[in-house]
This record gives sequence, structure tokens and C-alpha cells, in this order.
Amino acid sequence: MPRYEYRCRECGSDFEVSRPMSEASAPADCPEGHQGTVKLLSTVAVSGAAGSAASSAPAGGGGGCCGGGCCG
Ligand SMILES: [Zn+2]
Repeated sequence: MPRYEYRCRECGSDFEVSRPMSEASAPADCPEGHQGTVKLLSTVAVSGAAGSAASSAPAGGGGGCCGGGCCG
């Protein structure tokens, strides 16, 4: 059974939850009893069925280095 890593936004602690993949997107309660948790992208060794949801990272930009002439 894969493990998923979550982070509590109330107390800031990370914790892992072992659950079937069908419940991967279900919210997980913090061990301290908080409910404001977010799911982290963990390196779960699940071969094959990895989703292709890695398109949320911004491609370039943000630095502005090569636009300001500091690269030359
Ligand atoms: Zn918590």
C-alpha cells in the first residue's frame, strides 16, 4: 500500500499516511487533530501508474536576469 505525505498547515508538521490509491486524494487529518492539511508530492515508488500532473511548475521566468542585461 503506497504511502502519502501530508503537511498540516496549522501546526506545520509532516506526516505520512498509508492508504490505497483510491483514497489518495481524500483529506487526511493531522495526528494532532487538525484538518487543514495539504498533500505533498512524495516519491512513492509506485511503478507504472504515475500520473502526468507535473505541469504545474512554471517554465522559466521569474528571475529576469537575462532581461536586464546582467548576463552579458
Ligand atoms: Zn496539525
